Amino acid sequence: MKESINIYWFKRDLRTVDNLALANALKQKNKLLLIYCFDKPLLEDEHFSKRHIRFINESLIDLNLYFKKLGTRVHFFEDNIISIIKKLKTKFDIEKVFSHTETGLEKSFKRDLKFKDYCNKNKIKWIEEINNGVFRGLKNRKNWILNWNNYMKKKIELINPKLDDFITLNKNTFKEKKIKINSESKFQKGGTTNALKYLDSFLDSRINKYQNNISKPELSRTNCSRLSPYISWGNISTRYVWQRAKEQSSHGKSKFQVNGFTSRLRWQAHFIQKFEMESKMQFRSVNKGYQKLEKKVNKKYIKAWEMGETGYPLVDACMNCLVETGYLNFRMRAMLVSFLTHHLWQPWQEGVVFLANNFLDFEPGIHYSQFQMQAGETGINMIRIYNPTKNAKEHDSEGVFIKKWIPKLKEIPTPLVFEPWKLSEIDQETFNCKIGEDYPEPIVDISSTYKHAASQLWAMKNDPKVKLESKRILLKHTNSDRTAFDR
Ligand SMILES: Cc1cc2nc3c(=O)[nH]c(=O)nc-3n(C[C@H](O)[C@H](O)[C@H](O)COP(=O)(O)OP(=O)(O)OC[C@H]3O[C@@H](n4cnc5c(N)ncnc54)[C@H](O)[C@@H]3O)c2cc1C
Repeated sequence: MKESINIYWFKRDLRTVDNLALANALKQKNKLLLIYCFDKPLLEDEHFSKRHIRFINESLIDLNLYFKKLGTRVHFFEDNIISIIKKLKTKFDIEKVFSHTETGLEKSFKRDLKFKDYCNKNKIKWIEEINNGVFRGLKNRKNWILNWNNYMKKKIELINPKLDDFITLNKNTFKEKKIKINSESKFQKGGTTNALKYLDSFLDSRINKYQNNISKPELSRTNCSRLSPYISWGNISTRYVWQRAKEQSSHGKSKFQVNGFTSRLRWQAHFIQKFEMESKMQFRSVNKGYQKLEKKVNKKYIKAWEMGETGYPLVDACMNCLVETGYLNFRMRAMLVSFLTHHLWQPWQEGVVFLANNFLDFEPGIHYSQFQMQAGETGINMIRIYNPTKNAKEHDSEGVFIKKWIPKLKEIPTPLVFEPWKLSEIDQETFNCKIGEDYPEPIVDISSTYKHAASQLWAMKNDPKVKLESKRILLKHTNSDRTAFDR
């Protein structure tokens, strides 16, 4: 007779701390087999790039350092979940599969539906825990904040696994994937060990200037938590982070800084919840009224934006920095989207995958919701058309960030560096930067593109279909107190 076992299926919850699904799995009488699936069609989806795979690999290696002490490992398979379970079923009787719900792209949603169907047909019980306070099956947001708060406050279950809780496969029972990390990278390194280091240093000191520097492209890199990739890939839970942060304010840390931070942890779930309840927004604006917004694709513009060659220093510096490091703060992300969709008047769909590829923290729910909001296509949010020059003067007042990421501009003194197209011939010579050769002329004139975008977007806000859709969105995705959802 085959041995009856349970499976823990790691997905975007690559951690052991505050992993309720794992804690539940460890309470069962059956032994537990830990698996991760490198499901090629999913991981090779256009939204993902090498930096994401590297982060996953680093996270898995870190997880296995923990499990090694327990004489087991997470088994890595290069296949989809159904094929893996089918293979495992040749040796074991699989009773239950434990995992977290995933609010992912359409492909992962379809995979989960197929797997659910497979489990039903094969009498396997698939038990999912919700992730980070994002709830399944909601029709509206009634009581959402209350439920999210209660979820955050719930006591974290500690696990204390023993050697014989697990079943470990013989190395050559099935083909397992080997993981290796070849070289050093400039990206944040995956894994709970690193997540905890970032959290500790943030709460210890970096948080002291959090709200002061949150919008500054350079200083935000140290004064924001930088936890986003760890949260997105599940190296750490928002509940764990939330509880640690609240504990800090009870120890006298500034409530202003802590509250600013913890409210963003709520936005994390808020945006993912939106996507969970309306996943079609992967393909069209959440407000269907915007389908008739006319924008002509201009490949030259898109290329210039992607390459950091728009002629607007802050836009180009942000893009160069993002491609190189995988991180930008919120305001600079919003500005990049605004430049593409407002000043270059390009459909948001033309930039959404490129940024997903480059954000190390790519999280479909936040990304698609934020992209459309910044593009001004929700009908319910403020239309914000960012002026990159004004933002540079305000948030990079010494030009430190610009000069770091566009070395060709490094000899130009401030404030000239914010508007290099205004340099005289002599200045161009003096500061070693020929406009049109060393650094591009501005690709558009933002004062006229601003007027065009503003008039079009404000006119659209009054369109009957946009208005009708706005009402629907308000009813479905917000509660009567909109303050919590207004960002
Ligand atoms: C166009 C666009 C796309 C974005 N795409 C992503 C994405 O794919 N993944 C992602 O994690 N964030 C995304 N964001 C939100 C935000 O920019 C990042 O979460 C934040 O900059 C991460 O830095 P941090 O961890 O230092 O944040 P902190 O300010 O330290 O905040 C702590 C945590 O709160 C959450 N958070 C912070 N700001 C927001 C926000 N505005 N909306 C939702 N959650 C937030 C994140 O989980 C973050 O790690 C996007 C924003 C924009 C404008």
